[in-house]
Amino acid sequence: MPGRQTLSAGPEGKKVQQPQSSDGDLYFKRIPIVPRSIKGPFRRFKSGLLWLSFAVYFLLPWLPWSRHDAPAQAVMFDIPGRRYLIFDLIVYPQDIFWLSMLLFIAAVLLFFITALFGRAFCGYFCFQTLWTDAFMLLEKLFQGERPARLRLMREPWSNREKLLKVGATRVAWVLLSFWTALTFVLYFGYAPDLLVAVFTGQAAAAAYITTAALSFSTYAAAALLREHVCTFICPYGRFQSAMYDPETLTVHYDSKRGEAEAGRAVARAGLRGRDERQGKGHGDCVDCGLCVQVCPVGIDIRDGLQANCISCGLCVDACNNIMDKMGYPRGLVRYDSEVNLLKPQPEPVRPHWKSLKVLGYGVSLILMCAYLVYDIGHRQSFEHSTQQIRQPLYVTLSDGSIRNRYQIRLTNISGDEEVYTISARGLPEGALDLGNFRTVHIRNGKSVIIQASVQLDPARAAALNEFEFVIGNSKGEVVVDTARFFTRK
Ligand code: SF4
Ligand code: SF4
Repeated sequence: MPGRQTLSAGPEGKKVQQPQSSDGDLYFKRIPIVPRSIKGPFRRFKSGLLWLSFAVYFLLPWLPWSRHDAPAQAVMFDIPGRRYLIFDLIVYPQDIFWLSMLLFIAAVLLFFITALFGRAFCGYFCFQTLWTDAFMLLEKLFQGERPARLRLMREPWSNREKLLKVGATRVAWVLLSFWTALTFVLYFGYAPDLLVAVFTGQAAAAAYITTAALSFSTYAAAALLREHVCTFICPYGRFQSAMYDPETLTVHYDSKRGEAEAGRAVARAGLRGRDERQGKGHGDCVDCGLCVQVCPVGIDIRDGLQANCISCGLCVDACNNIMDKMGYPRGLVRYDSEVNLLKPQPEPVRPHWKSLKVLGYGVSLILMCAYLVYDIGHRQSFEHSTQQIRQPLYVTLSDGSIRNRYQIRLTNISGDEEVYTISARGLPEGALDLGNFRTVHIRNGKSVIIQASVQLDPARAAALNEFEFVIGNSKGEVVVDTARFFTRK
């Protein structure tokens, strides 16, 4: 699919090469894409999301949060303590179900968004898009707008200006990649201490290896590979077409309006007014090429819906700006559905949410989120399990009585030290032996294994089938574990 290179005209009149999705050669020399910046609501939305995501990602490890038995950090993956601290929620490895549920929710949310708005996740929320956007911002900051960057590209490396500006850009990219990687590592310890440890050579080897690997991959993905990640590497881009419906809203060029009978035409003398153009059979597209120049993946939306398009909406902003300048109605390039565009008179654009597929995704999302929230909200402050020791299943003592042994495991996940009491229901007085562990103090996040034995005379042993362990804590929470009693029958 990808391969063809086309020439598109920029507003300044230069022909600019752009790689395009096509049926041409599979292998072709990569032509760097130098997008023009643009103003408009979709650009503002993208920028807003970029700053919000960066603020959350880079500042979260520094957000203080008062804790009794762990560093005062709001979000921390406490690997030695085998727990994740997320504000007041403490997640233990045994809560793996929540992680599975979260992954399911994320997958269904992705399908839901794709069915409604096409590849909007790629265009606005994906890490690759966010970091590439940030790298492009730095590029613009040091090298200027698109024409200046194109001029610099043509200069030889002996040009001092090119050396300084491109060098500064790459240094900034390296720093951002490094800080991105280091921030990730800071989630795995108390950030202020870990930061000092990293820079003084005191941190664990894993911290340096992770920082180096992530710095390299961030730089490679956002500075070197860029749109190739979306086009060739990311599997989501490949299977998205299976999730599209003809009603899915995605970025389209209204070719009927743009081309009309005589095709698009540059707005030269005699072809500026809409009436003049319509009189000569030309459509509203003035072939300015701005929609191509702003595209971060370097495609021409006028060639129709393409697998490479990440639905970022920047070409919509670009074309709307041109339509405003020309005094034509907006929306020549717009979010719309294939079915609507095929209508003789397209209707106002609205998400098509009444399909069985979209409703199914929506209902699944609501149910899964509700269950996850319920499960988190109703988690007990301690984990417990009671297991019978089966080697041997029972022991006959010298006086003829029968003894069964059990192992009770308690894990305190309450956030504080806690006191637990253990008793039995359905046993005669004195049958349960817990040693000195009828009452146990357990520190937060710690587990204790208690050995219990039950001894009954032969008559009672023969009559007893099951009994219950009752475990309570000082908060008044009580759980009951049923246990079996084995004897020679
Ligand atoms: S064609 Fe438009 S919506 Fe698609 S990636 Fe390019 S700029 Fe974004
Ligand atoms: S679709 Fe719009 S932005 Fe693209 S070339 Fe035509 S007029 Fe220009």
